[in-house]
Amino acid sequence: MNLHEYQAKELLRKYEIQTPYGQVAETLNEVNALAKDIKNPVVLKAQIHAGGRGKSGGVKVVKSKDEALEFSSKLLGKNLVTYQNQPSGQPVHKILFEETENIINELYFSILIDREEEKVCLVVSSAGGMEIEEISKKSPDLILKEFCNPITGLMDYQTRELANSLKFSADLAGKFNKFAKSAYRLFTENNLSLLEINPLVINDANDFVALDCKMSIDDNALYKQKKLSELRDWSQDDSKEAEAHHLPPGMFGSTIR
Ligand code: ADP
Ligand code: MG
Repeated sequence: MNLHEYQAKELLRKYEIQTPYGQVAETLNEVNALAKDIKNPVVLKAQIHAGGRGKSGGVKVVKSKDEALEFSSKLLGKNLVTYQNQPSGQPVHKILFEETENIINELYFSILIDREEEKVCLVVSSAGGMEIEEISKKSPDLILKEFCNPITGLMDYQTRELANSLKFSADLAGKFNKFAKSAYRLFTENNLSLLEINPLVINDANDFVALDCKMSIDDNALYKQKKLSELRDWSQDDSKEAEAHHLPPGMFGSTIR
């Protein structure tokens, strides 16, 4: 089960991972209310369970209420197609309004379960903003990995090794250690199968900030994650899959021939 970016960011904040301040709007009236006194540029982001929104018109920096209304009226209630979802796209029911961050450096960061090693793996790259498939094709040497021992978890020496490879200053290396350990704790405590922060940026205050976030919860562990499972947005799933999930127990036998 996937979370929306705005839901994932709320969970990041609970683990003291920095994200830009943001609010969501579901209607043009709400967009109007949020945009009424825009002073500084804000980023508007269509909430769908797919990446690639930036390249498909789903992310925009706006400077005025009119621009915010124009962007939102094009997207709210419509389907947004990106190269990561189905040809029909996914419906946009919410727009996230977010403070713009002054980006000094963009990184790729994820935590996932490596099936071959059967371990939790941290993946970091200096090629932030690009999709991991693209990085592995174009510059595989820029992908750094650390596998975590399930008993000891993520160790300080591992975050230090990553920080050294990325040539972080001592100050940044310390902040990276705190960030990566919080992310690891979030991953394990919430039974995630994927936590991807792309881009993870270093801002002008020399802090790590999660500008985007994709979170998937292991479906087999949802019974342990009642609060998170309530955040499910069926409209983002394949309609046949969603329908199958809502059939009463025992119905599968009569529908699958
Ligand atoms: P997607 O991965 O779906 O394209 P992102 O959330 O990664 O969407 O946004 C695309 C790009 O927009 C990011 O790589 C980043 O450069 C920029 N961006 C996103 N959020 C912000 C923000 N709050 N401040 C400044 N730039 C942003
Ligand atoms: Mg992204």
